[in-house]
Amino acid sequence: MKFAELAASLDQMEATKSRNELVRILSEVYRASVPDELQPITYLIQGRLAPFFEPVEIGLGERLLMTAIGVAYAAPKEEVAKLNRQTGDLGVTAQRLAPASHADSPSVVEVHRRLSQIAAAGGAGSQQQKLDVFTSLLRDLDSASAKHLVRITLGKMRLGIGDPTVLDALSFAKKGDRSLRPVLEGAYNRTSDLGLIARTLWEVGEPGLDALKVRAGHPLRPQLAERLPNPEAVIKKLGTVGVQPKYDGLRVQIHKAGDQVSLFSRNLESMTEMFPELVAAASDLDVDNVILDGEAIAYNPASEEYVPFQETTARRRKEGIQEFAARAPMRAFVFDVMFRDGSDLTPLPYERRFEIVQELIKSSDTLLTAPLMKTDSAEVLTRELLDNISRGLEGVVAKRLDSPYQAGARNFNWVKLKRNTSGQLTDTIDVVLLGYYGGKGKRAEFGAGALLAGVYDTDKDEFVTITKLGTGLSDEGWRAIHKRLANLEVPVKPARVNSNIVPDAWLEPEIVVEVLADEITPSPRHTAGMTGDRPGFALRFPRIVSLRAGDKKPEDATSVREIRQMFEQQQQPGRGRGR
Ligand code: AMP
Repeated sequence: MKFAELAASLDQMEATKSRNELVRILSEVYRASVPDELQPITYLIQGRLAPFFEPVEIGLGERLLMTAIGVAYAAPKEEVAKLNRQTGDLGVTAQRLAPASHADSPSVVEVHRRLSQIAAAGGAGSQQQKLDVFTSLLRDLDSASAKHLVRITLGKMRLGIGDPTVLDALSFAKKGDRSLRPVLEGAYNRTSDLGLIARTLWEVGEPGLDALKVRAGHPLRPQLAERLPNPEAVIKKLGTVGVQPKYDGLRVQIHKAGDQVSLFSRNLESMTEMFPELVAAASDLDVDNVILDGEAIAYNPASEEYVPFQETTARRRKEGIQEFAARAPMRAFVFDVMFRDGSDLTPLPYERRFEIVQELIKSSDTLLTAPLMKTDSAEVLTRELLDNISRGLEGVVAKRLDSPYQAGARNFNWVKLKRNTSGQLTDTIDVVLLGYYGGKGKRAEFGAGALLAGVYDTDKDEFVTITKLGTGLSDEGWRAIHKRLANLEVPVKPARVNSNIVPDAWLEPEIVVEVLADEITPSPRHTAGMTGDRPGFALRFPRIVSLRAGDKKPEDATSVREIRQMFEQQQQPGRGRGR
C-alpha cells in the first residue's frame, strides 16, 4: 500500500462523525493490506512506530519539524511560523506548503522504515541526521500525506482510533462483522500489541491468536477491581476474601526476561527509565523470567513514611530521577505474579499465586509483599478497612482467593473499598473532558469556564456525557487545565463522542479527571447509559478531586456499566448515604 492511499483513508476518517464509519474505513484499509504492512499501519494510525509499551520515540518536536518543513518546501522560517499561527496545526501547515500531488508516493512500509531510522538516530550529530531524513521524506509526499506524516511524527492523530476501534476493524476486515472481537480481545489482553495481533491473524488465522501467550517483556493488560458499597456487601458476594491494603501509588508491572528488566504503567507505557531502584531490585531476583504486578510508591527514609500519589508521579519528569531516587526511593508492594520461567501462572488460584510472590521476593527490601489477611467476617473486614484508612492508606482491596488473573477484566475477583472525605464508603469517578464553555468572571481569565465531562461506554467504544464541572480546582489548577485544553480543541464533535449537549468548544477526549459527587441521578439530557427507553445518568454536585497525572487513558475512565452499578447500589436500602 502506498502511503498516499493510507493518507486518503485517514482523511476520510477525519471527516466522519460516525464511529461505525470509522470502523468501516479502517477495515477497508486492512482488507487492502498484505501481512508485512499490518504492523506499520497499525502503529502509524495511532501516531506510533511500535506498540505503546515500547519506548520508541521519533524525537522530532514542533520546532524541528518547522525547520524541516521550511527546508523541504523552500519556505522561510518566519513564513512557516506565521502560517502555523494561522492554522494552529502543524500538519495543516505542511499540507498548505506541500505540492498537491506527487508522482511517486513511497509505500507505507518505506515511510515506517524511514521514521524508524529517525527514531534510532542518537548521539552527536543525530539531530541533523533526523532532520535530513525527515526533510527528504517530506519532499517525496503529496500534501495530504505530508499532513498525516507530520501528525504521526508529533503523535497527534486527532482521529480517535482507540484500541477497540482497531479490534472491530480487524474483525470486520476478516469476517464482515464483529464476531472475532472476543478472540481478538483475548489476544490483546495477553500481549497488548495490536500490530502483532493483526499480523498473526493475517498470517496464521484465528488459531494463531489463541497461540499468542503471556510472555515476559510483553505487558499484559492489568486485572482491575470492581467496587461494592460496604464490607457487608463484599462478604455477601465473595464469601471468604483475602484483604490487602490499597496503596495510593502507581500501578507497576515488573518484567524480567533474562538480563532485561522492564517496568510498565497501568496504561502499559514503559516506566523503566523512571524507577532505576525497582529495575535493580528485579534484576537481583533469583529467577530467569518473571512478571509481577504491584503498586509502586515513594518512601521517605527520614520520616519513614510513604509519599502520596502526586509526589510519586512527580518523577514522570525526566530530570532529577537520580536525586529523587536518593531522596525518596521507590518501593513496590507486589501483590501478584502472572508468569515464571516459561509458565503462564494466570490460571492458578490467587492464593497459590500469592504464595509464589512471597517465595520470589522474600529476600528483597525494595520489592515487598503486600500483606494479605483472610476473613469471612464483615466486622473484621470493616476493622481492617478503618485500620488502613487511619494509617493513611486509601482503603483495602478484597480478593477472591480462588480467582485466576483475568488480564484486562474489571470484575469481582477484586473489589476495592475506599472512603471519601465525609467518611462514607463511596468512590470517586474518573471522567474524560469532552468540551468547555467560555467562562465568566474570574475563570474567564484562564480561558475556560465549566467543563463538559463524560464516561466511557465500553460496548460502543464511545464517550458519553455525564456532567458539567465547575468547581474543585484552585486558580493554579484552572490555569494548568486550560493550558492542556488549548492543544486538544477540535472544530467539530469527535466521532467517538455521543452528546446531546453542545459546549462552546469540543475537545479531543484525552484528559481524565477524578471527581467526587454526592449522587448519581437519572437525566434526560446526558447520554451516559441512555437507551431508547431509558434516561441517561448525571452526577449531582460534582467536584474535581485531582487531575490524573496521565496514568489513565480516556478508555480507562469509569465505564457506563460501572456508573449503572453505582446507581443501583445507591438504591439499596441501608447504605446510609445522607451527607
Ligand atoms: P482504582 O484505580 O481506583 O480502580 O483502584 C484499583 C487500583 O488500586 C489498582 O489499579 C492498583 O493500582 C491500586 N492498588 C493499590 N493497592 C492494591 C492492591 N493491594 N491490590 C490491587 N490493586 C491495588
